[in-house]
Amino acid sequence: MHTLSVAELSKSLKNKEFSAVELTQHYLDRINRSDLNAFITVTDELALSQAREADAKLANGSGSVLTGIPFAQKDIFCTKGVKTSAGSKILDPFISPYDATLSHKLNIENMVMLGKTNMDEFAMGSSNENSFYGPVKNPWNKKMVPGGSSGGSAAAVAGRLSPFATGTDTGGSIRQPSSLCGITGIKPTYGRVSRYGMIAYASSLDQAGPMTQTAEDAALILNAIAGFDEKDSTSAPRDVPDYTKSLRDSIKSLKIGIPKEFFLEGLDSSVEKVITESMKEFEAMGAKLQEISLPNSTYAIPTYYIVAPCECSSNLSRLDGVRYGYRCKDPKDLNDLYLRSRSEGFGDEVKRRIMIGTYALSAGYYDAYYLKAQKVRHLISEDFKRAFKKVDIIMGPVSPTTAFELGAIKDPVSMYLADIYTLSANLAGLPGMSIPAGFSNNLPVGLQMIGNYWSEEVLLNAAHQFQTQTDWHSVLPENI
Ligand code: GLN
Repeated sequence: MHTLSVAELSKSLKNKEFSAVELTQHYLDRINRSDLNAFITVTDELALSQAREADAKLANGSGSVLTGIPFAQKDIFCTKGVKTSAGSKILDPFISPYDATLSHKLNIENMVMLGKTNMDEFAMGSSNENSFYGPVKNPWNKKMVPGGSSGGSAAAVAGRLSPFATGTDTGGSIRQPSSLCGITGIKPTYGRVSRYGMIAYASSLDQAGPMTQTAEDAALILNAIAGFDEKDSTSAPRDVPDYTKSLRDSIKSLKIGIPKEFFLEGLDSSVEKVITESMKEFEAMGAKLQEISLPNSTYAIPTYYIVAPCECSSNLSRLDGVRYGYRCKDPKDLNDLYLRSRSEGFGDEVKRRIMIGTYALSAGYYDAYYLKAQKVRHLISEDFKRAFKKVDIIMGPVSPTTAFELGAIKDPVSMYLADIYTLSANLAGLPGMSIPAGFSNNLPVGLQMIGNYWSEEVLLNAAHQFQTQTDWHSVLPENI
């Protein structure tokens, strides 16, 4: 059962080949046997009761295509009555009193939540080593990182512990772990999916999306989670198309732009080889390739690593030991309560970013750092605007390397370099995707596709066409 995609599971459930309860139990057994550390919380009882409800709906014919499908929820989405930690000690005791809009939307489809997935603390990281709950292992090689911050979600899907998982992407956290774990992941256009109840890291960059085996599955899930939400002032009042409809479009005249800045030094040659091969595959399907330039994308790292810490320093100020989660023991006074709750509750990387952000926003430095970064951010968006006058889609690597060894990257700046190809799409608010494109030393390599605003259909269709011609997306890790 666990090798089936969401689309296949949906058919099997409809045809009564197995029940939602049987399917759920199968996944729960797999999760309980797994040593990947992909989950922070497993919601066995809740899952089985949701599965029973789903079976009742399927029996009386009132279910949707997603009814009864199990999934893993990144632990950054608030889930009513269930611990929602964001991978942090400071929220370890936090039981959310409400559902995020995304959680609610999956609930009304009568989907089955298997549990909450492990992640870098407050989604800050590229390796899942910043979690209070310990690192996640990559199912392709357990000595390797799964990528981050949605490392638990990626490992859960790649290790077939869940047919799909949710992720969030502030600077690459859906695409990079998808790439490193060999699955399909899409970060929609900023504003496409509601951020309500998704614990905020950097509000102007954060966006949620599905992490799946196939592009077809991503389209099915996006249908359910996209759309305007009056509870999120940045969600877009736009209609949601049926993303599965465009999956049959021909890509014969598709114009693909290849940014030369994505192929400079730093890109591992074996990754480059896989990317070049997959471009040839698109060419063989009739797409036209052309070189383009995104000259300011080389500033994406310094720009992002000012903007994101600034926003996080503000967002995380609500975690003060008073309102939610962890509180230090026996505080002397209010200041001591704030100071010790935060010092004891946050991990090193989160503290580093709060300090950088607070510094960059302080009077006297604001113009030099934050304002300057916002200006460069604008230039990065302008590069894309120019490029999308010439091409329909931009392609390149997701990550400069395949999965690296747990513990191998020790200094924060080297870790930030892993985000070089993913950050620009977030800074511009554009949709981006990672699809399995091949292997290097038995580790998966993802191809990145960046689309124009609201062009998720173009991305999903290009990915789907690629997946009808190749089967990188259905290769399974050994011994899973
Ligand atoms: N690796 C990036 C960071 O640490 C991106 C994380 C994300 O997209 N949530 O900020």
